[in-house]
Amino acid sequence: MAQIRRAPQRTCLGCRQVKDQDQLIRFVCSPGGEILADLKGRLPGRGAYLCNCRDCVEKAVSRKQFDRTFRRTCQPVTGEQVVEDIARQLLAHLASLLGMARKSAKFVAGSNAVLDALNRKSLLAVVVLARDISPQIGEKVRRKAEYQKIVTTELFDKVELGRILGRAERSVVGLPDGKLADAFLEDLLRYQDISGES
Ligand SMILES: [Zn+2]
Repeated sequence: MAQIRRAPQRTCLGCRQVKDQDQLIRFVCSPGGEILADLKGRLPGRGAYLCNCRDCVEKAVSRKQFDRTFRRTCQPVTGEQVVEDIARQLLAHLASLLGMARKSAKFVAGSNAVLDALNRKSLLAVVVLARDISPQIGEKVRRKAEYQKIVTTELFDKVELGRILGRAERSVVGLPDGKLADAFLEDLLRYQDISGES
């Protein structure tokens, strides 16, 4: 008989709901007492878990749940600092996924190339617009993408996007359908949940 494997369950320190561990964010307390978000789940030591949401972070911090879980006095943090730490790590991961797209040459960069890909209806899964893209071009790309139900998001600025892709500045980048885009979209959702951006 096939064994049913259940994902490990953990309780969120904020809302006390029990969820699959991989739906929660793990935290550890460093030897120096620092609370660290451990998004990759690789840091040693006892873990504490929280939903990827501001509310649960705020609740856990205000009720000193980290100290209780780690059974020590951790360095004080604000909910905002914890949220920023998570958002920063997710953003870095999104950048590294774009960097992987660059290495495998699986991306379309630049507003003309992305508009062209959208016109040809080549299968893009997500379009990333630089935060400082010109409003007219941004609007044009966004309209075409949304018409094809392609996710659009604003992340980084033109210089950062260019640097991630190993080029001069770029205002738009598109990722084709595939595993990389799936991973990107998954982390993008998490980033939007925690940062409150869309
Ligand atoms: Zn929660």
